[in-house]
Amino acid sequence: MKINEIFKKKTVFSFEVFPPKQTSSIDTIYRTLDELRDLEPDFISVTFSAGGSGNGALACEIASKIKENGVTPMVHLPCINYTKAEIDSVLSEFKARDIKNILALRGDVNPNIEPKKEFLHASDLVTYIRSQGDFHIAGACYPECHPDAHSLEEDIRNLCIKVDAGVDHLISQLFFDNESFYEFRYRAASAGINVPIEAGIMPVVNKNQIERMVTTCGASLPRKFVRIMQKYEHNPEALRDAGIAYAVNQIVDLVASGVDGIHLYTMNNAYVARKISDAVSGIINA
Ligand code: FAD
Repeated sequence: MKINEIFKKKTVFSFEVFPPKQTSSIDTIYRTLDELRDLEPDFISVTFSAGGSGNGALACEIASKIKENGVTPMVHLPCINYTKAEIDSVLSEFKARDIKNILALRGDVNPNIEPKKEFLHASDLVTYIRSQGDFHIAGACYPECHPDAHSLEEDIRNLCIKVDAGVDHLISQLFFDNESFYEFRYRAASAGINVPIEAGIMPVVNKNQIERMVTTCGASLPRKFVRIMQKYEHNPEALRDAGIAYAVNQIVDLVASGVDGIHLYTMNNAYVARKISDAVSGIINA
């Protein structure tokens, strides 16, 4: 079933995984995917390096494994460091593997890599993919504003260009304060954006990881979230359990507020995904 169709029927529940480091065996992610399959997500997305480091082939392999497992795959595709010819080759690979869902991204600008300048914004890639076949195209959005934009207003104006170029649904950057998501959703709707918006939820797995994510993505930290990190920072198991509870609370509130979907950044941790899925599946499928 196309992802668009699922949004019409229910609150979408999806997972995100990333390819293992080149030093790790691909079997580690395959084991994770087997466990995630049992949780019956609506789709699983696979990240793709913007650095041109060649993990695109790995992302395609992983997407094929997801499909083999009977789950719908989506592959992320960042464009800033790729030429049109390179994007053509990836799209051909997607067609050969019958991968129909793409998260079209610009990618972060890396000071050590000269951008190829053939696709400047994700919207350029969206327009291009639209001209190349019948894909479901997702785009990224930022409830607390993308760091390159001067204001949320400017960012939402740019988001309108991306959606108008042919985005079917949006997946948000992680956030820890649901109010920022609600405010963003309201402002996006007021600007005329009417595609489904999935909320990106990142459960706390460990303190270092969260701090790294927060400095790079700019998510604000509500006081109760900071209290949890401080209270349990020296007790990894308690921090993990509290993080799971925090994510579950966020999801319950989002679903009650009519969110279109929840996109769980699993960090390849099937245990955490299972705990969250077990806690919210009755609510999501109600
Ligand atoms: P864009 O939509 O191009 O926006 C980037 C900036 O440019 C924004 O400030 C926007 O306001 C501005 N802008 C957009 N269009 C225009 C325009 N027409 N004119 C002027 N300004 C404009 N990165 C990876 O490398 N690999 C991944 O797998 C990956 N997965 C991600 C998954 C999700 C759900 C999210 C939220 C992000 C992901 N990223 C990934 C990170 C993403 O690549 C970065 O956040 C990147 O900096 C922006 O990508 P974008 O597609 O949102 O860019």
